[in-house]
Amino acid sequence: MRKLISLATALAFGVGIAAMPAAAQDKGTVGIAMPTKSSARWISDGNSMVEQFEASGYTTDLQYAEDDIPNQLAQIENMITKGVDVLVIAAIDGTTLSNALENAAASGIKIIAYDRLIRDSGDVDYYATFDNFKVGVQQATSLVDGLKARFGDGPYNVELFGGSPDDNNAYFFYNGAMSVLQPLIDAGTVNIVSGQMGMDTVGTLRWDGAVAQARMDNLLSAHYTDKQVHGVLSPYDGLSIGILSSLKGVGYGSGDLKMPIVTGQDAEVPSVKSILAGEQYSTVFKDTRELARVTVGMVDALLQGGEPEINDTSTYDNGVKVVPSYLLEPVSVDASNWEDILIGSGYYTMDQIK
Ligand code: BGC
Repeated sequence: MRKLISLATALAFGVGIAAMPAAAQDKGTVGIAMPTKSSARWISDGNSMVEQFEASGYTTDLQYAEDDIPNQLAQIENMITKGVDVLVIAAIDGTTLSNALENAAASGIKIIAYDRLIRDSGDVDYYATFDNFKVGVQQATSLVDGLKARFGDGPYNVELFGGSPDDNNAYFFYNGAMSVLQPLIDAGTVNIVSGQMGMDTVGTLRWDGAVAQARMDNLLSAHYTDKQVHGVLSPYDGLSIGILSSLKGVGYGSGDLKMPIVTGQDAEVPSVKSILAGEQYSTVFKDTRELARVTVGMVDALLQGGEPEINDTSTYDNGVKVVPSYLLEPVSVDASNWEDILIGSGYYTMDQIK
């Protein structure tokens, strides 16, 4: 239908077929496997890719798996059977796809890991993502800045949350954050009152906000009946919202009990609103339009001949190979710069936020 409309438009404007945009060509089919629609960022990733791939002349097959591993596997197997030319995958569990990808590669299908590294497979051609270690550094830096601004010189009582242990990114976020926090913990400026540290202890399976909220409830009742929590390292907005409701539930953010500094990631609308309301302190913006652009460029180079643009050939060892990667820059966002970064870039309109 879209092709018909663009053909009609082209004819109406008197543009000859030869001068028509790339959208009229058929360069191949891209299977796009996204993890879940429960978080707005993945919807935005999917939409940006469909838009940009179609504008470059590709057909797309976009699927979401609602965080169910067998479901995602079935979707990918189905794409392979249908004979897509390339798979772009943001894995739910980065370790469960090896067999399917072996079959894909055997039929000549190219494979791109999208945002999350696919582990334990020699068949991943390229990886498009953000500088994930830097995301963690930005989260912890913002946490420390916020602690100083709201609570003075410290020492500060802090709790740590990690992302999903089956997502390779979660370790990069945590390690990046700890590169900033560990020296402060060693110096006694930051106290992890519960003593709970390390991804095996603080990880949050499937990035589930309800799980984070329940863990925060437990931390508060077990360790904070006679002291105040000043900061919470949260790696993702969906967890931050759960953590904030737990904190509000016991009175933080009202009366004399100041709201702790809570970080986040993805600049999702509820979190941007929460930042404006003085609740969540910060988030990290990762422009999904840019990630889509890099991915389309990689696919185009792979299928049409050419060298995909990469800027990192050492960081992302997936257990079988170091996957050549392109890392985009994340941006730390808080009450001081949200408008410039999120509205100024056209990522959101003011109506969506206010
Ligand atoms: C992504 C983050 C996201 C998280 C939860 C990670 O792999 O890099 O942007 O917050 O998954 O969806």
